[in-house]
Amino acid sequence: MTRRASKIVCIGRNYRGHAAELGNEVPAEPLIFLKPPSALVGDGDAIVVPQGVGRVDFEGEIGVVIGRRARRVGEAEALAYVAAYVPLNDVTARDLQRKDDQWTRAKGFDTFCPVGAPVDAAGLDPRTLAVITRVNGAERQRGSATELVFGIPFLLAYVSGIMTLEPGDILATGTPEGIAPIQPGDVVEVELVGLSTLRNPVVAEGAEARGA
Ligand code: MG
Repeated sequence: MTRRASKIVCIGRNYRGHAAELGNEVPAEPLIFLKPPSALVGDGDAIVVPQGVGRVDFEGEIGVVIGRRARRVGEAEALAYVAAYVPLNDVTARDLQRKDDQWTRAKGFDTFCPVGAPVDAAGLDPRTLAVITRVNGAERQRGSATELVFGIPFLLAYVSGIMTLEPGDILATGTPEGIAPIQPGDVVEVELVGLSTLRNPVVAEGAEARGA
């Protein structure tokens, strides 16, 4: 990323299949939460699994990078505020998510937001975007922007009506069905199909300090 995000705004339960696999309904309005910028890592960096957190899952997602300050933008003009699209992994400590009423802890650990190389938004219709997640080369998730319960222009209008989106901020649009745990030693790949691939090894906390 050329610019540091001031925030990462994430959408929960935005694919019907994923909401159902965790026993949830699709919400009537977008369900939003934040990940801290301190969770960001890039392509090739390690996802560090903290000690004692239990199950940790991948969530491959279509990420949207803001290019211009956006406050209360309309749905029709929303895409003019987008600089780029990125593959993003909304890494989640699933046991902690179930335990807590809100998800700051489960979603907020360092390295829990890998983001891949940006794809210029100019001339790109986001409805053509698709995302695939692979673990150790095997496909685990596949989703298309056309399956989003709330589409990208609607989300930008909705979120910018709550908080000003600054250049470099990232919107994570939700994960399709197929979430599952990852373990140290795995390699997780999130591909914006045909455009950009994000690849991250998973390591146990402590191992990264030893250079393993
Ligand atoms: Mg997610």
